[in-house]
Amino acid sequence: MSRPRPDRRSLLLAAGAAATAPGLAASAPAIHARRRRPVMVGSANALPGMQEQLPRMVDGLEPLDAAIEVVKVVEADPNDMSVGLGGLPDEDGVVTLDAACMHGPTHNAGSVGAIQGTLHPSEVARLVMERTDHCMLVGEGASRFAREYGHPEVDLLTPRAREVWLRWKEGMSERDDRLQPAKPKKSGQLYRYMGEELTLEQLLTTHRITGTIHCSALSLEGELACCTTTSGLSFKIPGRIGDSPVIGAGLYCDQEAGSAGGTGRGESAILSCASFLCVELMRGGMAPKDAGMTVLRRVTEQAQRGAAWQPELVREDGLPAFNLQLYLLSPGGEVAGVELYGTHAFAVADEDGARHEQLDALHG
Ligand code: ASP
Repeated sequence: MSRPRPDRRSLLLAAGAAATAPGLAASAPAIHARRRRPVMVGSANALPGMQEQLPRMVDGLEPLDAAIEVVKVVEADPNDMSVGLGGLPDEDGVVTLDAACMHGPTHNAGSVGAIQGTLHPSEVARLVMERTDHCMLVGEGASRFAREYGHPEVDLLTPRAREVWLRWKEGMSERDDRLQPAKPKKSGQLYRYMGEELTLEQLLTTHRITGTIHCSALSLEGELACCTTTSGLSFKIPGRIGDSPVIGAGLYCDQEAGSAGGTGRGESAILSCASFLCVELMRGGMAPKDAGMTVLRRVTEQAQRGAAWQPELVREDGLPAFNLQLYLLSPGGEVAGVELYGTHAFAVADEDGARHEQLDALHG
């Protein structure tokens, strides 16, 4: 049974009714003061999509439409190896995707995990939200659901992603029968990963490859929504689902408190309920940056405790051996982007246009 989303008039009526009912006002959808411009925040690779969608938001595009349109640009880009088409596969060479979206005014969400052969998992996540009574579909069921709703089966493993996967397999073990090329070809070819251009060697050696796109959006009307989509951890164990489709981990949105999402080590975002915690801290009155830093401190403590059984979770200096980025947006339009380490960028779009800014790093 399809349930149409409430229109803006019903939401306003609901807000008004709740405001007059004692004890209910706190749970009513808050419609915040109109801003001169809408606001979006997200991972660095969201910039091209934000540039396209900002003018449409100024013309009244709803934030869920905007957030999904922003991430779809990267889902469909065969040259970005962190999301959708061209994303790096699991250890068997199969590309599986995770995505979720959340809508502030109705506090509803949908997600798909380990979906295969689907170009736009973000749209399928929205179908789960709007056309089912469920929040999450995974694996074969999610793929079949996508086909039912007209998402054609596509081969997501591009020749470039297959090449990187094979090089990873060849370099994996000294005890199997695969050999690395005697003279690795230096083609000078660059591989786009999370907005950065890397050589194959950098891609395979600098870090365990992760990558995702997140976008949180606040409309002119003060409505919040968000979306996160990814091919997940490269060369993961088949069946692994990261934080991106987990509501409260890879994204969360509450009309009264704010919106947040993450990229980086998904397990750390799941274990800390990172996005939910960001939003709840904003609900408590924290500024987005303070909320994000508080969550990263929690993630650091949890990694240090986890190192008791998994020593590789921390570096020699006792700090996390992985990175996590968080993007936060308050209902009033204040944004922040924070990370454990580094000088990476995040994307912001507001009255000053769409641009990259530097994330604030907790550990420098
Ligand atoms: N968070 C994603 C995951 O763990 C990967 C990433 O953002 O880099 O699946």
